[in-house]
Amino acid sequence: MKNQELVDYLESCNVCRVCQLRYLKARGNEYKNMDKTFQRLDVKLPEQSDETEEQPLKKPRLANCSTCLGLFSEDFQNQLIAGILETDFGKYDCAGMVLALSLPISLQMRQLSMWFALQRKFGRTAVSDHNAPDVPLKEAVKLILHPIVCGKLGKEHDANGLMINIDLRHSVETDEVAKLVELNKSAFPCKGKRIEISRGLLEKQYQPCHIKAELFEKYLPIPPAPVDESLQLQSIKLEGPLVCVAGRYRKLSRELSHTPWVLHGKRIMEDSIEEIIVRHVGLHFSETPEKITFMSSGREDVDVRCLGKGRPFVLEIPNAKCSSLSNQQAFGMEQAIDRSGTVSIHNLQVVPREELVHIKAGEEQKRKYYRALCVLDEPVTLDILQKLQIAESFDIHQKTPIRVLHRRPLHTRPRTIYSVKARVQRGNHRLLIIDIVSQAGTYIKELVHGEFGRTTPSISSIIGKPVDIQALDVVGIDLDWPADVNNAANET
Ligand SMILES: [Zn+2]
Repeated sequence: MKNQELVDYLESCNVCRVCQLRYLKARGNEYKNMDKTFQRLDVKLPEQSDETEEQPLKKPRLANCSTCLGLFSEDFQNQLIAGILETDFGKYDCAGMVLALSLPISLQMRQLSMWFALQRKFGRTAVSDHNAPDVPLKEAVKLILHPIVCGKLGKEHDANGLMINIDLRHSVETDEVAKLVELNKSAFPCKGKRIEISRGLLEKQYQPCHIKAELFEKYLPIPPAPVDESLQLQSIKLEGPLVCVAGRYRKLSRELSHTPWVLHGKRIMEDSIEEIIVRHVGLHFSETPEKITFMSSGREDVDVRCLGKGRPFVLEIPNAKCSSLSNQQAFGMEQAIDRSGTVSIHNLQVVPREELVHIKAGEEQKRKYYRALCVLDEPVTLDILQKLQIAESFDIHQKTPIRVLHRRPLHTRPRTIYSVKARVQRGNHRLLIIDIVSQAGTYIKELVHGEFGRTTPSISSIIGKPVDIQALDVVGIDLDWPADVNNAANET
């Protein structure tokens, strides 16, 4: 089968130029300069009736392409772009976008019909039962429609960008699907069971190796019938990208919960770290901040501060209307949160979704650095101080603390303490400042007082005296993520 013969036959079946190239198995850029590709493939260009006509391809045809129903026509592209511009498209400030087309089932049936037609015309040696003779529509949409639409809308193609969901219909569909249902009953009889005709089923079963042309033709014509009407845009729905914004927070208050603290339907605390951060960062990206997910690398108790470099956190923002954050904007948010006086954030930045593994994985292996202010019943002695200078790591066994038993199962967990270092608080000889490096997941308050032997050994059991904890700060978290950025210095 010569390319020219194939094209002549397709032309006679009212197949458009783009689809002709699909049947010539053109790839990638070959759709960009179609004339050049036809020439390279030894196919004559269509004769032009009028030399002065500006767009010879747009000369009026009575019908739409019988295999793509006009999907690749310029008229449809213009209709599609106009349709997209009528939506909230302008509200989304993202560099990338992706089209998600839902095509009428008729299109799939028409590809099969043309497959049969080509087999009849050129024989089954030239056109096999197993490999489709054309570049599949889905792929052609990516190769042809995507670059054109993205280009005209001034966006890059990005699978993680703004998703434009387009539902297409065609007037022939109802009739053709009804025939397909009948065809399916004859082709794949199935007693009793009702078969759902899905796109997946069509892709798998509707090939010449599973279905005979003669049977197909009883229900639907070979080659596919020409159509007058073009595709209809049923609906266009936009879905913004999932944007991840990371940073580190310091918790400066001993009266602030991590997430909203609600007990029996009543709020115990007015605000929370999550709400403060979402309030100042979320609105820039989203009109529905309630859908934002807040995650952090561990958390502290309400009465524990988190100082030092702070704790890494990330906001997962679905359907974001904007996907970038300038240093200046980030700095503005950092300052606004600082003004709360209870939380302070820095290193605020948009991060790729893949980097979320840092915050989700390996929690158990991480080290945590604490500073505890402890009080004894009697003045600290040199002996006590010496016992609390521990440079070598040691293991403890910790039963689930009574205070969290209502939400955590009762277990005894082994935990490693990497080091302990104590000094006396100036001006009060009963107060000790103890720096502790522990494995993540250690309950520090219980490590200090021992909770009636539920944690062994404990600071209390090591010195053989009761110890009480007055205040606790997290001073470091062993996670070097996200990267350091100085939003104040890099204003852009
Ligand atoms: Zn076509």
